[in-house]
Amino acid sequence: MATHTTRMLIIGSGPAGLSAAIYGARAGLQPIVVQGLQPGGQLTITTDVENYPGFRDVIQGPWLMQEMQAQAEHVGTRMLWDTITSVDLTGSPFRAVGDSGDIYEGDTLVIATGAQARWLGVPGEQELSGKGVSACATCDGFFYRGKDVVVIGGGNTAVEEALYLTNHATQVTVIHRRDSFRAEKILQDRLFAHPNIKVEWNKKVDSFVGDPQAGGLSAGALTDTVTGEQSAYATHGAFVAIGHAPATELFKDKLAVDASGYLVVTPGTPKTAIPGVFACGDVMDHTYRQAVTAAGTGCMAALDAERFVAERDFAAQQANAG
Ligand code: FAD
Ligand code: NAP
Repeated sequence: MATHTTRMLIIGSGPAGLSAAIYGARAGLQPIVVQGLQPGGQLTITTDVENYPGFRDVIQGPWLMQEMQAQAEHVGTRMLWDTITSVDLTGSPFRAVGDSGDIYEGDTLVIATGAQARWLGVPGEQELSGKGVSACATCDGFFYRGKDVVVIGGGNTAVEEALYLTNHATQVTVIHRRDSFRAEKILQDRLFAHPNIKVEWNKKVDSFVGDPQAGGLSAGALTDTVTGEQSAYATHGAFVAIGHAPATELFKDKLAVDASGYLVVTPGTPKTAIPGVFACGDVMDHTYRQAVTAAGTGCMAALDAERFVAERDFAAQQANAG
């Protein structure tokens, strides 16, 4: 069991955490990144990424995250493989305990634990993920240009994803388990008015069918939730849009969360209510949830962490001088 101390402790190694690390290291904060169960974050479970700026050609998500980690290490970040199981935010230095039993102490704490898309948990979903089954229309919609796709869900995310997908797909079918949406009325109005969107009401997806090695997804197996009738819906693209779960369990009763469970920050900043504790990326952002926005707020968290340390050090110097 070891104790690791740093001026900037970062929990999470996705684009937000690694961007914070790059900026923090270059500001001399000697950051430690605790990587968690998914080193590199959500982009490591996708393939093609073509909306992260700086790359003319399509790049691979896992490769991008390896490069980001290498850059963070190159400028002086210490990457540690552990998962934080508890935190003490009562004052700086903030303290975290890892699954390994190691203790982490940071003068500042950057929370970059991300959010995970909720999945249906039906057969074929995992096997065909990235091969026709996706949880991100903004990320993968482009690959369905001129094709028919389905969106599963009935909330704001599902309706927004369906509307977005009409930019690419010929026909979008929303599959929803009930006979009404919970999405906001204005979004529903836009959806119902769109000529290229139709809705399959009262249908639940029992499984995704296809060959992960050849051709990918070919259909969704459905059950009518009213009549019990079973059917197959042929499609090469299925977008699961049943919500996201931000990874905020660690901070329960310590930091405020909004109605959807995302960490609350001062608008336009990564500042939480506790000075010296910052939140960035998907864990505090239920609107944009993109790698580039996560990286952007990671940068903001590091800049604010650097200011917090500088102001505190200056105040201590003044006190000593006086
Ligand atoms: P994440 O990437 O979610 O990283 C969270 C990190 O926190 C992980 O490293 C995890 O291990 C760590 N962590 C969590 N809990 C703990 C803990 N207790 N202790 C230690 N560490 C912990 N965006 C795009 O811009 N373009 C795309 O093409 C794109 N494609 C996507 C495809 C898929 C399939 C998915 C799921 C998402 C996609 N996204 C895409 C969205 C993008 O991946 C996210 O917006 C981005 O990864 C968020 O970054 P983050 O750093 O906030 O969190
Ligand atoms: P959500 O509101 O929780 O809706 C999830 C949808 O998925 C519901 O329609 C639900 O069905 C369905 N669903 C859940 N589990 C399912 C399952 N196992 N099988 C089939 N369907 C399932 O999630 P969200 O749409 O991601 O929105 C989350 C929050 O973010 C909300 O507060 C939302 O307002 C907000 N948000 C806002 C915007 C915006 O303001 N533009 C955009 C996106 C999200 P039921 O309806 O039957 O429960």
